Amino acid sequence: MKPRILIVEDEEALATLLRYNLEREGFEVETVVRGDEADTRLKEQAPDLAILDWMLPGLSGIELTRRLRTRPETARMPVLILTARGEEAERVRGLSTGADDYVVKPFSVPELVARVHALLRRAKPEHVAKSLKAGEIEIDREKRRVHRSGREIELGPTEFRLLEFLMMSPGRVFSREQLLDGVWGRDVYIDERTVDVHVGRLRKALSRGRETDPIRTVRGAGYSFNERFVSER
Ligand code: CA
Repeated sequence: MKPRILIVEDEEALATLLRYNLEREGFEVETVVRGDEADTRLKEQAPDLAILDWMLPGLSGIELTRRLRTRPETARMPVLILTARGEEAERVRGLSTGADDYVVKPFSVPELVARVHALLRRAKPEHVAKSLKAGEIEIDREKRRVHRSGREIELGPTEFRLLEFLMMSPGRVFSREQLLDGVWGRDVYIDERTVDVHVGRLRKALSRGRETDPIRTVRGAGYSFNERFVSER
């Protein structure tokens, strides 16, 4: 089955160019012009990946991403944002909103295609993976056990889910709200500070002595599993 990509872009020429190149790579591509239309479309059917322009009529790419992240069917779908130059601060906000990657316009099509492949590769194994491994930390999802450098880490159920959730997307920054949605569930009302408490417990359990803290606090944004922790090993 061909992987499906939804492109949401109001510049027709760019949308056509992307569609042509991605179809040539063997993807099934659908294009939508308006952000609000895309929102409806994504509720009907979730693609394998979405490319969203930042500035869109109806609904911005960022708002769209935020909505995608609150729905279980699309919470982990790779999202790539297209953005115009000179939106540095906005870009950062884009990533903390839950986008997996961004590309600044004008961009080279081969580079964008390469990023699409990379995002899809990264997204796939988590659906089937029985274990997650990052550096010296390993989660056995079936046995619900965590090890660091071979020693077992005792975690409460919430800390376990929190670690699992963060490790599924190394490097991605999750806001407290997104963590509440993803770990505790959307219908539960819990104070956002509860997230800090559990992150604190998780950190304490994971690291002993001079061991590196794998969790990164991003001021004003939230938390992420440090992707550098992964590549150091
Ligand atoms: Ca636009």
